[in-house]
Amino acid sequence: MTNSTPTVTRDGVVGFDGREVVTIDQATGAELARYPVDDSEQAAAAVAAARQAAGAWWDLGFDGRAQRLRAWQREIARAGEEVAALIHAENGKPVDDARSEVLGTIGHLQYVLGNAERVLGRRDVPAAQAAPNQQAWIEYQPYGVVGVIGPWNFPLITPGAIVISALAAGNAVILKPSHLTPGVGQWLVRAWETAVPDFPAVLQHLIGYGATGQALIAAGVDKVAFTGSVTTGKTVATQCAQTATPMLLELGGNDGVIVAEDADLDEAAAHIVWGATGNTGHGCISLEVAYVVESVYDAFVAKISDLARQVRVGSDDDAQVGPVPLTSQIPVIREHIADALARGATATVGGLDTVTGDRYVGPTILVDVPADALAATEETFGPTLAVVKVADTEQAIALINAGPYGLGSAVFSRGRGEAIARRLRVGMTSINDALTFTMNPALPFGGRGDSGYGRKHGEEGLREFAYPHSFSAKTGPARFSASTFDRPAGAAAHALAATRDRLLGGN
Ligand code: NAD
Repeated sequence: MTNSTPTVTRDGVVGFDGREVVTIDQATGAELARYPVDDSEQAAAAVAAARQAAGAWWDLGFDGRAQRLRAWQREIARAGEEVAALIHAENGKPVDDARSEVLGTIGHLQYVLGNAERVLGRRDVPAAQAAPNQQAWIEYQPYGVVGVIGPWNFPLITPGAIVISALAAGNAVILKPSHLTPGVGQWLVRAWETAVPDFPAVLQHLIGYGATGQALIAAGVDKVAFTGSVTTGKTVATQCAQTATPMLLELGGNDGVIVAEDADLDEAAAHIVWGATGNTGHGCISLEVAYVVESVYDAFVAKISDLARQVRVGSDDDAQVGPVPLTSQIPVIREHIADALARGATATVGGLDTVTGDRYVGPTILVDVPADALAATEETFGPTLAVVKVADTEQAIALINAGPYGLGSAVFSRGRGEAIARRLRVGMTSINDALTFTMNPALPFGGRGDSGYGRKHGEEGLREFAYPHSFSAKTGPARFSASTFDRPAGAAAHALAATRDRLLGGN
């Protein structure tokens, strides 16, 4: 450790020439803690220890792992207030939002405890018609060591849900939390060490910046689960491609919400203002653009503007929206607002003056936003909503589907919600609500296009961390066999003719 002054960069206080991570208390701006940065040597040691522990972890079987995952779940519940306070300090979100992360993490553990064996246990499949003497089945086997690289916006539940699935599938895991929220990642691992003292190397962490993430991948993990921005995700994918390391890529989004002519406008306004500004708009699934049908446009704008004006920003106990911990995001938010205003949009709430101090951004509702403005086409990642007027829901669907992302979405319609939702080329949709798909641990979560590939949560999230190993075992003599050279002459021609007759019915 050093006593010198930390370097202040566009990303806030980022430490001493990259040798330390310094976190700040988002409520006060004061230094919170310092962490030495882990380098390639530590990454290699962590991967070696994880690899050694992984075999015994898999050998425990579902019951043995469940027993330990349950102990970890209890420990997280026991110390839930402690980690909620840490999330509040490092990330700045209100303590109740932090508590929701803790509850959600416990919920994901509950899901894998109840479902891992059903989803990942041995599965028999019928013998093939061509080889009735073969018993066939699938076993889902762990990759080995999984590297989980996480973001700062949901520092517990986002990497936590992935870690939980990977562990339940029988892998050892190394977590590299964001440099803005390393304490939360470390806390999760310490809770593991407390609850599961016989398998400490099965869940470890490495602290640092991007270079530490690169070192983790270079140390030879068997799978990488990356959550973060599109740009970084593509860089990480390029590194993984060099070693054909499989990936889960959970990237950004620019989530659209459709307000149809038959929407309940009070419900829509209440859910959308929360979905757009809650968590300071720092959600990959935060609602970013509302496509509102013109017949209800003015009424919707009046309602949502009224609600957005009431959102309380700050770090006090009654604040609903906290600061922007990634200070380099503030110029991006301003750029998107300025671009929309320059193209003829109006801010009914907020606007360019909404940035107060160096870390707080108030809610902004931009109306009459052209569909090609930055606020409508790019991830703003702030407490802003771009409202775009559309002739009908067909136009709204086309605009959402034309975008490069495809993560979450929402639809408000009394009668056609499901029909509209089904036509959106996205990973997830809430109907007559906002963001609710992420609250159900059984629903797979992920995107398409620039939002990434692979899935976390639910059955798909468990299978993401296990590869299917197919088995075919001979149980008796072959009646018709193509698997030796002693196949009877004419057998293949006879089988093809029989198949043709069966399919064509003699025609
Ligand atoms: P980021 O891309 O800046 O960083 C993410 C993580 O990658 C951090 O831990 C960082 O240290 C690490 N990293 C940076 N460069 C790296 C490299 N070259 N190799 C390996 N690791 C590297 O993202 P962020 O600002 O922490 O998170 C915000 C972004 O994450 C937003 O775009 C948001 O939409 C997205 N996000 C997506 C999901 C999802 O599930 N799809 C969830 C939360 C956040």
